[in-house]
Amino acid sequence: MPLYTRWSRVLKDLYPFKVFKIPLHAGFTCPNRDGSKALGGCVYCDNRSFAPNARGPRAELEEQLAKGKERYRRREPGAKFIAYFQAYSNTYAPAEELRAIYDVAARDPDVVGISIGTRPDCAPEEVLDVVEALRTPERRVWVEYGLESSHEASLRWMNRCHTAADFTDAVERTAARGLPVVAHVILGLPGETREMMRDTARFISALPVASCKIHHLYVSPHTALEGQWRRGEVRVPTLEEHVAATADFLEILPSSVSIQRLIGELPGPWCLAPDWGAGKDDILRAIEAELARRGTRQGALTPCAAGTR
Ligand code: SF4
Repeated sequence: MPLYTRWSRVLKDLYPFKVFKIPLHAGFTCPNRDGSKALGGCVYCDNRSFAPNARGPRAELEEQLAKGKERYRRREPGAKFIAYFQAYSNTYAPAEELRAIYDVAARDPDVVGISIGTRPDCAPEEVLDVVEALRTPERRVWVEYGLESSHEASLRWMNRCHTAADFTDAVERTAARGLPVVAHVILGLPGETREMMRDTARFISALPVASCKIHHLYVSPHTALEGQWRRGEVRVPTLEEHVAATADFLEILPSSVSIQRLIGELPGPWCLAPDWGAGKDDILRAIEAELARRGTRQGALTPCAAGTR
């Protein structure tokens, strides 16, 4: 029995060929940045830190896809792809505009999946209609919603400008269409105890969530968080704290929920803190070792689970 349900395992079950996710920047903004809800964005957000295509002048989507395909096909000539609309809020536009943008990926015969990252308050029914229409027998579609925490105080601190109830509403309406939902969370938020992070795991476990991305709190340059961190108002988690919190989280999350990531990954210049002095593989091994040490695994504390998608 694996210690947790790897996304790579799910992809192997879904597709008879190797599949890679190509991150895309389609030129969206976000209601937290354009003043609809807030200006300046979430406290930790500089999209350039986590979305490679947001770092320079934005290339056409066709070019981003072609470059991504070329890169992966050097490693795996027969690979196919999931087009991942990653940067900013990728459902934040009128339905007709969205249809034209998504169509760039949908008409590429090498794209066997589309994953759309967005905010839970950017999913009106007319937008979900467009997203649902992308699904064909040959092409799967995922919707990725940022929750980050189930605690309203933490959502306020992050300046997320949405509530946990917004997340519940979006997840339920999306999953009701048979579209698998990916939840994003951040562990190590200021003021959150281990029990509070377990609360977020319980919150997600009660919803029809298919997959989860776990990040640790990190500080990127040019964010509001950078100022708070430099002034000593917030601290970021230690490696030991993240390992413990992630193991706690996994113990609660049902094994039917696949895990797409267990840490945030940033290139050096985009991460001011924490500097754990450990590579990704070392950190993943530390999390696995912690689960093994406890004699536990994903879902050990929540045995009842829906099916993986
Ligand atoms: S919702 Fe996403 S894109 Fe918008 S400010 Fe927050 S993290 Fe950045």
